[in-house]
Amino acid sequence: MPHPAVAEAKPSQPLTLHGLSVEGVDRCVHCGLCLPYCPTFSELGTEMDSPRGRIMLIKSLAEGRIKLTDSAVAHLDLCLGCRACETVCPSGVPYGQLIEAARAEIERQRPGGLLRRWFRWVNFSLLLPNPSLLRLAAAGLRVYQASGLRYLVRASGVLRFLPEPLRHWEPLLPDLPSGPDRAPVPEVTPATGARRVRVGLLTGCIQQVAFGPQNQATARVLARNGAEVIAPRTQACCGALHAHAGEHETALALARGAIEVFEAAGVEHVIVNTSGCGAHMKAYGTLLADDPAWRGRAVRFAASVRDVSEFLAAEPLRGPLQEVRRTVTYHDPCHVAHGQKIRTQPRALLAQIPGLRVVELPEADWCCGSAGTYNLTQPEMATRLQERKIAHVRATRADAVVTANPGCIIQIVQGLRAKGSPIQVLHIVELLDQAYGNPSPRPSPQSGEGGVPPSPPGAEGGVLPSPPKGERAG
Ligand code: SF4
Ligand code: SF4
Repeated sequence: MPHPAVAEAKPSQPLTLHGLSVEGVDRCVHCGLCLPYCPTFSELGTEMDSPRGRIMLIKSLAEGRIKLTDSAVAHLDLCLGCRACETVCPSGVPYGQLIEAARAEIERQRPGGLLRRWFRWVNFSLLLPNPSLLRLAAAGLRVYQASGLRYLVRASGVLRFLPEPLRHWEPLLPDLPSGPDRAPVPEVTPATGARRVRVGLLTGCIQQVAFGPQNQATARVLARNGAEVIAPRTQACCGALHAHAGEHETALALARGAIEVFEAAGVEHVIVNTSGCGAHMKAYGTLLADDPAWRGRAVRFAASVRDVSEFLAAEPLRGPLQEVRRTVTYHDPCHVAHGQKIRTQPRALLAQIPGLRVVELPEADWCCGSAGTYNLTQPEMATRLQERKIAHVRATRADAVVTANPGCIIQIVQGLRAKGSPIQVLHIVELLDQAYGNPSPRPSPQSGEGGVPPSPPGAEGGVLPSPPKGERAG
């Protein structure tokens, strides 16, 4: 039921939070059609943890009729930002924009204690925008992982005595690549055969240090499909994590930086292989709409951004492609499926790989609980959603899960490991790279513990029917 105070509201000024428009709240007609598609509502069944409840909260906050209490913050913080509600909303409520504005307001009004502010400053202002500092931090983490210290920490049980967030964070640390896998993507990768286009590649912030092999595979696959790939050394973070976490000013600065770098590279498209970054960069026009000096450049830049699957699926893959005899299932990252409305393209690419058997994953577009930094800040709900995803993955009997976002890879790998499952987790570009005859994907630590033999055709767990949306996994 709508909150009575909300129903009476008649604002005369444009509704904003932290200077960001939330006028989209008025499009909500409280129909509730989005409720069965919302993972947190599905898990908890409480109105205030549904899209409709959160929209009411945001509207009431913007109208100044409620204060940002602990309870209001908790309901907003528990939102994954997955935007599944946006996909199904018949009124076109721009939910992603609303929750970003609400988060910026939370950070303004409730920045938290000294330790939290320091921690956010280190991450959002120091590490993420500075690739060289990020590489230094990664070197320290690599020593922790390679020296055996991590093994000791895990085996000794000392994690149990760490404060709550750290206890959950340690197992989520990605295994950092070593040796040649650490090498950055070349600044220029020439097209194989006739060049049809010159593209830029976002190599990312965390992506650059933790997912180097996936970046390298992306450049190789693009090149095999006629793209000259430019990966500018001067690029930094795109600002997606900042925008999602309420760090609005830094997000603006990083967006301007990304536009400058790729404009200077003279590329026709900017290719992205991380879902949150792609969705965010496609929204630069909205982000910089109030800045007359940047508005036009931001709109042009946003129009040039392509998810890697979207770009590759625009034309048939160039051959020859080798057989890949295995059974895989595909998990849709939220910001690819809901944020960019890309669903058919990854499946169309998989269908072109000879020998590959693809089984549909029930609730394929249901959030896995990763959601940017959500699995770090909301470990309980993240674990519930992770377990739900893993149960569906295992039921398919596939020997690998293919997806298109590093955050999902980390979350699903960790969930599978916790169950002792040998199922591999791969970025779609790794599988395509393999079809082009490259040794990748080797059984990398990032990808789980290695595959199992492919299921024979017709084996139990083939193509499973999807349960109705909103129903709890069995
Ligand atoms: S589907 Fe759209 S209009 Fe209906 S309650 Fe959800 S957000 Fe509001
Ligand atoms: S973004 Fe996701 S978690 Fe948040 S309200 Fe919408 S469906 Fe629910």
